[in-house]
Amino acid sequence: METFSGEQRETATLLQRSPLIIAGPCSAETEEQVVETALRLKATGKVHALRAGIWKPRTRPGNFEGVGAQGLPWLQKAKELTGLPYGVEVATAKQLEEALRHDADFVWIGARTTANPFSVQEVADALQGVQLPVMIKNPVNPDMELWTGALERVMKAGIEAVALIHRGFSAYGHTDFRNAPMWQLAIEMKRRFPGLPFLIDPSHICGNRHLLQEVTQNAMDLDYDGLIIESHRDPDQAWSDASQQITPERLLTMLGDIVWRKEEVLSEEMHMHLEKLRHQIDRLDDELLRLLHDRMKISEQIGEYKKAHNITILQTERWNQILERVCRNGEKAGLSKEFITQYYDAIHMESIKHQDAIMNAHG
Ligand code: PEP
Ligand code: MN
Repeated sequence: METFSGEQRETATLLQRSPLIIAGPCSAETEEQVVETALRLKATGKVHALRAGIWKPRTRPGNFEGVGAQGLPWLQKAKELTGLPYGVEVATAKQLEEALRHDADFVWIGARTTANPFSVQEVADALQGVQLPVMIKNPVNPDMELWTGALERVMKAGIEAVALIHRGFSAYGHTDFRNAPMWQLAIEMKRRFPGLPFLIDPSHICGNRHLLQEVTQNAMDLDYDGLIIESHRDPDQAWSDASQQITPERLLTMLGDIVWRKEEVLSEEMHMHLEKLRHQIDRLDDELLRLLHDRMKISEQIGEYKKAHNITILQTERWNQILERVCRNGEKAGLSKEFITQYYDAIHMESIKHQDAIMNAHG
């Protein structure tokens, strides 16, 4: 195997940009498509780096699986013409080697790969001795440890410029998103690795065009460091992920409409105002916890009663009544049905646990 040990790609500084904007088609399809898209992205004046999928891991066979290594020279050409660095997804040592041989400036590990420690380790081993930015997408399943593990494997390989990409998680059942954002998991990951650049991939979260702006704005409000987004010269004709891609020109408009916020709150007055509001939130959280405690205590009393009379814990009809009632009242209080359902599901599970402990207590 060709060795790239000692290689130092120049784009280690790429990750220091904020907001960092990486854009390009889901897949490289033809040389013309790659080059035209890249030139139009360059013309926006907003894009710092190009992306394109060369090897496409598709969940089901029969979909377009990428053009393979023949697409890399197209990206090299796009890089030459635009002066923009480029990156691709790599899932094996061989793919990494091909990407490096064709002057890729950064690589990312895709969501399906992050979910597989064998593959991540293979890529990490092949990264030994090389310095280029490596971005790690969250795994398809909502598992923080897999995401953390992939990051650790890459860092242990000695890679200094690492970043995380939040691309949403697959969820059972219908949601508004192709991959549910589950913001709380991403926020926890930001908390675990505070210094690491954190990018949003709104394309794979949304799966459509109309939510892209909203999701990107949400991420910027949460102090993300940038985005990696799919953009194609002719989205409707894209060979993969057609419904979520936008033209470079539409990307420019979208970026113009985003409010870029700063985490640093400069003035003392703003700081005081926020502190006051945060204090109120903390007080309300304490109150919520106290109410939940009281609610559990009543559940436990019901558990005692059910135990004495030998009744089952789960009573579906009663549960449906509760849900209907809280959804109705929740709506009046301006809370979405999705939120109320998730919140009450969690409360319900906890109640069942408390009742279960009582019903199955010995003595
Ligand atoms: C992609 O970026 O084109 C891709 C395949 O994404 P993910 O790994 O997040 O599904
Ligand atoms: Mn895609």
